[in-house]
Amino acid sequence: MSTIQTDTLVERDRQNVWHHISPYNEASPPTVFTEAKGAWMTDHKGNKVLDGMSGLWCVNVGYGREELAKAAYDQMIKMTYTPMTQSHQPAIDLAEKLNEYLDDDYMIFYSNSGSDANEVAFKIARQYHQQNGEPSRFKFISRYRAYHGSSMGALSATGQALRKYKYEPLVPGFLHVAPPDSYRRPEGMSVEEFNIQKAQEFEEKIIWEQKETIAGIIMEPLITGGGVIIPHPVYMEKVQEICNKYGVLLIIDEVICGFGRTGKMFGHMHYKVKPDIISMAKGLTSAYLPLSVTAVRKDIYETFKKSEENSHFRHVNTFGGNPAACALALKNLEIMERENLVARSAELGKRLQNELADLNDHPHVGDIRIKGFLMGIEMVEDKETKEPATNERVGKIIAECRAKGLIIGKNGDTVAGYNNILTLSPPLSCTDEDVDFIISTIKDVLNHNTLIRD
Ligand code: PLP
Repeated sequence: MSTIQTDTLVERDRQNVWHHISPYNEASPPTVFTEAKGAWMTDHKGNKVLDGMSGLWCVNVGYGREELAKAAYDQMIKMTYTPMTQSHQPAIDLAEKLNEYLDDDYMIFYSNSGSDANEVAFKIARQYHQQNGEPSRFKFISRYRAYHGSSMGALSATGQALRKYKYEPLVPGFLHVAPPDSYRRPEGMSVEEFNIQKAQEFEEKIIWEQKETIAGIIMEPLITGGGVIIPHPVYMEKVQEICNKYGVLLIIDEVICGFGRTGKMFGHMHYKVKPDIISMAKGLTSAYLPLSVTAVRKDIYETFKKSEENSHFRHVNTFGGNPAACALALKNLEIMERENLVARSAELGKRLQNELADLNDHPHVGDIRIKGFLMGIEMVEDKETKEPATNERVGKIIAECRAKGLIIGKNGDTVAGYNNILTLSPPLSCTDEDVDFIISTIKDVLNHNTLIRD
């Protein structure tokens, strides 16, 4: 591709494309990507980079898989579309497949995005309580730092002030508690004690708010985009106990943690919990097409089958459960199974753990948190005070990795006070050489760059 065409692309982008969550910066225009294969992307100038974030934590099987394109193509030709007021075979097959992983306990409701899946979860939870004789239950509790989506309900559940404050007032009835950020626990307190204390915040909130008003708790199995905050198992057990005690539904957001990212098929499977509702998106199709799912326990679904008028779920979306997207999702899961990508994710997590352990001695590395092929490195100015690293320091590390051909992320600019966590979430299909490259680049940038170590 000639330089002239390249320049034109960037200019045309500037004139017409409004980018998601990106500041307007004339000095560094967005990269235009033109090709991608495996874990590697090629930009409009021919530069290759390894996508250590799988896009937005989503291209789990890697880029450029022809068999996924073919699965979608075949389905489009065979039967393009029917709304999910009716049905079609890929939707049925995919629901069965998901239930294979979930012990057959769930009904599958299809939408288009993670935000949609969470909106559906909130509506189902509220309607369920109404139909179950507890109409006063309408509130949801989530955690500060968590992200649950961009639509008004999902944003209300989100605990990141900087994403919200220009769009308020948001939806009433969404409450927040502190996350189990063990790295910043009080001195002298064990991780276990701290996690129990943090879980108890849910109970306190439920009591303060009047227990009969609480519909559900929504949480990721571990907070991903908000800074990779991994709970101690006792935290999740305690949350489950509290939900059971107060009749509160446990909604688990698996939008990032699902489909192998954390080393199990679903992130909640690391813990002794049985979600009432599970939202899924991203890795479900590895982002080749939009599709999301709200999986709802079958006994909750039963209350929607009562004979009264309007007991059905009055929610529809045009594209949810699109046949090509469902067919593609099935193929995506077939690939994950065939290539053992869930086990591979766990194995690669161990590799990161071992081979990056010496970074713990770096003067600005406060904490390294890994679950499967998902990692957060918390950067600090000072290891003693744990003062979060400046945007400048974190930005420099990201830029240097990028200059060496590796995309890594950080937890947005969205968590007030704590935008100091480097994130990594590469395709689970990375080759051993890809992983060598990721590890050596991160080490190289952190260890051999005096400015970053200053
Ligand atoms: N939930 C979590 C945990 C997410 O990370 C995201 C997106 O990043 C969402 C929900 C929203 O998903 P979507 O962007 O598909 O609406």
